[in-house]
Amino acid sequence: MLLPNKKGYFGEFGGKFIPETLFFCLKELDDAYRQIKKDKKFKKEFKLLLSHYAGRPTPLYYARSLSDHLGLKVYIKREDLLHSGAHKINNALGQALLAKFMGKKRIIAETGAGQHGVATATAATLLGIKCEVYMGREDMERQKANLFRMKILGAKVNPVTIGTKTLKEACSQAFRDWVANVSDTYYLLGSVVGPHPYPKIVRDFQTIIGKEAKRQILSAQGKLPDYLVACVGGGSNAIGLFHPFYKYSKVKFIGVEAAGFGQGGLSAASLVKGSPGVFQGSKSYVLQEKNGQIKNAHSIAPGLDYPGVGPEHSFYKAIQRAEYEAVSDKQALEGFNMLSRFEGIIPALEPAHAVYYLKKLAKSAKGKTVILCLSGRGDKDLDIVRKYSK
Ligand SMILES: *Cc1c(COP(=O)(O)O)cnc(C)c1O
Repeated sequence: MLLPNKKGYFGEFGGKFIPETLFFCLKELDDAYRQIKKDKKFKKEFKLLLSHYAGRPTPLYYARSLSDHLGLKVYIKREDLLHSGAHKINNALGQALLAKFMGKKRIIAETGAGQHGVATATAATLLGIKCEVYMGREDMERQKANLFRMKILGAKVNPVTIGTKTLKEACSQAFRDWVANVSDTYYLLGSVVGPHPYPKIVRDFQTIIGKEAKRQILSAQGKLPDYLVACVGGGSNAIGLFHPFYKYSKVKFIGVEAAGFGQGGLSAASLVKGSPGVFQGSKSYVLQEKNGQIKNAHSIAPGLDYPGVGPEHSFYKAIQRAEYEAVSDKQALEGFNMLSRFEGIIPALEPAHAVYYLKKLAKSAKGKTVILCLSGRGDKDLDIVRKYSK
């Protein structure tokens, strides 16, 4: 079964819930993507960028100290070692190359915490394409370092001053720009969310994580792992790891969301605490009030601070292919310290949620093999950790 179907559905989730004006943009993108997917030249160039520029394949590292401590066999997929510090570069390079093959002269993107903005600015400048990033005024205040990085990389950052002045409005502005400028502009979306075909395109570019991990675990221990564990914001690093293992039903998938303050406080756990609804162009789980109003999200991890999630994860939840758990800010900090101290690896706060979850898993899965996706490194989060640890 090849999903999504032609209309972009994973079961009942996904699709295209968009104004008429966007149909042409998405159709053109879908057609172009189908073309390049079979294109030898594209594949060759993408592979070269991933290896020589981004630093693939990333190691699958057996974490001996952490494993001994927990009573699990923990293998860590080191996406934190990639150029620019996280898995986002896989998708940014893939889509920027697609933009180049489509003959687009300008790339636009939305960004919340600025990580996707930086990855997009990196890929665009590498390929010689002009880049503009929409960012909420509020987020620009909170994320000065990433704002500065984007500027150094030559991107123009457009402040968004409507509504909550954050990611949600930045997305709307980017879509508006795209509709007006589609003839020369490519919209480079940052996770497996939004209207079809984005969830499929971003997933395909991120499956390199799972393909490598599968090959590496087979060579390390001669059999598939028992568990795959990854953090879920929009869901791209998790789907990238999970998807190539989809048909091996004995391999259990666990997505770890942000429970934020925990105990009824603000969170970002769309799958654990949300319900199905339409948000940003597709049907999926979303954090919403009874009247359908989208709730504010909160997580200590900037990259998880989002009230929605990709439709493929909603589908995995519905068919019980994956399990979703939520880990609080405080627990994520414990995960952050645990990996730093046992392995000398400082994780980003997003995958620190997944690291903490291993402690819970260890209680019921003694001796089992786990692959943990370490989606990014912690340098970007040191100020946040310092503030919370006071
Ligand atoms: C952005 C980000 C995430 C969350 O995005 P997904 O699409 O859920 O992968 C996770 N980890 C890091 C390091 C990030 O920068």
